[in-house]
Amino acid sequence: MFNKTLRAHFPNFLPESEFIKKSHKALTQMGFTAKNTIPCVGVCRDEITHSLIDHVERKWGASFNLSSLAGMVFMGKTGLGAAQAHSPIENGKERYIFVVMPHIAIDADGVIGNCFRAGRPAVSGACGALMKFQGELHKDTPNFAYDPLDIEQSLLEARLLPDLTDKKPDLVTLTKVAANAIVADLEVLIEQQVDTATSDYAVLNGIQIHGPALTQYVHPNSLYAVVNGERHAIDLA
Ligand SMILES: [Zn+2]
Repeated sequence: MFNKTLRAHFPNFLPESEFIKKSHKALTQMGFTAKNTIPCVGVCRDEITHSLIDHVERKWGASFNLSSLAGMVFMGKTGLGAAQAHSPIENGKERYIFVVMPHIAIDADGVIGNCFRAGRPAVSGACGALMKFQGELHKDTPNFAYDPLDIEQSLLEARLLPDLTDKKPDLVTLTKVAANAIVADLEVLIEQQVDTATSDYAVLNGIQIHGPALTQYVHPNSLYAVVNGERHAIDLA
């Protein structure tokens, strides 16, 4: 049932290791190397997202942390500026790779949102932040008031609410809306702050999927590199 659900909702999925391996191969051909590039990763704070960071770091070295709840892009100009300032410079050029995505779990029975965690007998969920938002949306009188003791969750809800055409979305829909918002918000910051005359960069955006027995997949959403100011699609073939 897991495979059927995965294929139905995320038809372009591939194992997480393959996603990183293939994108690494494509980016290497465009001049990005572990030596001349800083990898920047924005995923949910959830510990089960760490496998993706680990795969990135095995290929690209230590990563700059862009993460917040659900993988939302809240590091702002200051956060992006720090990542830029930490990039290697090779022949006057900086290079950045941005791996940014939300996540979702699917259990062995194909139930979306369900996952199991080491040491906890009861079923758990991912993404908990998106599920909390979804729960609020499905209330008769939702409350999206800013809570200073819940800053990231408040920001997440305020950011995603206007992007929802269906105000009572299922979790797959909500996660896909989040994936699009994440890449859109990153692109606004890049547009403001990255000089493509002196910097090359790549965007690897998708949805991280947690399957049964610690399996991990990525459904690609938006993958491209900008090299010498020209945009190129990243082919994962
Ligand atoms: Zn999460």
